[in-house]
Amino acid sequence: MASPKNRSNSVRKVKRRTPQGTTTIYKRRVKGKKHSCAVCKGKLHATHSLPSLAKSSRHPSRIYGGNLCHLCAKKAIIFSQRIKDGSMQQTEVEILLLPYVKPLLQK
Ligand SMILES: [Zn+2]
Repeated sequence: MASPKNRSNSVRKVKRRTPQGTTTIYKRRVKGKKHSCAVCKGKLHATHSLPSLAKSSRHPSRIYGGNLCHLCAKKAIIFSQRIKDGSMQQTEVEILLLPYVKPLLQK
């Protein structure tokens, strides 16, 4: 019986041919993690890492899709607009959001 660490669903089976000509099954950990938001570390929806998929189905096509969740992207857009209007200053924005707010100011 497989050892407990290899009984998980996050273990994949890899068939390899040995020099003797027999095939053996190795067990390897599944690569990759769930994609997460860069600001709030929440789970990102509608994201995949498979290179065989079309680019449009690997991440959302909105601004900062695949990097920020929809709530943090919304915050970045709102803050950038408030800074443009003058009702808010750049120092009031969260430090983690600043790299996403600054490029929006130049547009
Ligand atoms: Zn977020």
